[in-house]
Amino acid sequence: MKFREIGWNGFLLEIPEDMRLAAEGGNFNSGYLRCEMEGLLLEVKWDALNQKKTKPLAEIANSFVKDTRKTLEKKSKKKIDLKVKKLDNIFISSHSAYSILLETMPGLKEPIHIWNCEKSKRVVILHFVSSLPEKENESVIRYMVNSFKCHLERDSIPWIALNLRFSIPSSFLLADRKIAVGRTYLTFEDRKFSTFTESIKSLTIEYFSMANLVFSDTYKKIEEWFQSKYWNDLKKRHKNITFEAAETKRIIRHNVLHKYGMKKSGLLTKRTMLCENFTWYCSKSNRIYSVTYTSSIGSPFFFKRKLNEEEDKKIIQEFLATLKCHP
Ligand SMILES: [Zn+2]
Ligand SMILES: [Zn+2]
Repeated sequence: MKFREIGWNGFLLEIPEDMRLAAEGGNFNSGYLRCEMEGLLLEVKWDALNQKKTKPLAEIANSFVKDTRKTLEKKSKKKIDLKVKKLDNIFISSHSAYSILLETMPGLKEPIHIWNCEKSKRVVILHFVSSLPEKENESVIRYMVNSFKCHLERDSIPWIALNLRFSIPSSFLLADRKIAVGRTYLTFEDRKFSTFTESIKSLTIEYFSMANLVFSDTYKKIEEWFQSKYWNDLKKRHKNITFEAAETKRIIRHNVLHKYGMKKSGLLTKRTMLCENFTWYCSKSNRIYSVTYTSSIGSPFFFKRKLNEEEDKKIIQEFLATLKCHP
């Protein structure tokens, strides 16, 4: 079986090539991820780790089993007797994991591993449901478990999914998303507050699939596409977004339309916002990509404020340097 990488909310692992991202929610601190293929399901659930009062892993396992039983009983409307077997603890990403094997149905194997990751400050539950043949089942799951990383020795987080990869600073949390046929976007936010200032940085990566069919008359004229198909939408989602200048650049091996601008607004609370957008057609994936970055700082009128433009430039440059929009 062939495997490929997936990176999501600070987790990095290898999954079978046929496995697809089926559901996800939350952000780095707390959330879930589900990947599926015929005969195999992978579910990752995580929550903030309370380092002062860590729960025993056995207790977390018990409530997981209880919740599973409840859900199944609700579905089937009858009492269910779940078989639970304690497995030997194993090491995952250098942590000792508490492991059990659940049997909800004959022939269905559900290994569950639970551990605390002090480095990413999360409790992680890794849950497999498999009806693969015995031999294959064991080797495939072992491969995935061995590849699993819950903390990374770097400040940026790799996102690898949806035939796309990039890295962003760990202070950017997934704040909004839409994953759909035809159109997908992920929005990350980094919010910092202090007594007199409020800094909000936002990065959105969005793509439109099958661009040569859906936008047959504009996909090769990206400026026209931006104005007629995208601009109104972008304005609705990003209040105060402004662009003053545009140029086409050769970056990430594509001709990229780069728009940028700066907006000042407000009377009592003054706000300065830097806006950047990068839009291009990628023929290899047949997608139109649009990346929007805004960075704003707000403070009372009497307080001196200044955007750290160098920092913003660095964030964008590093993001673009790691971005791969096609396989
Ligand atoms: Zn870890
Ligand atoms: Zn590309």
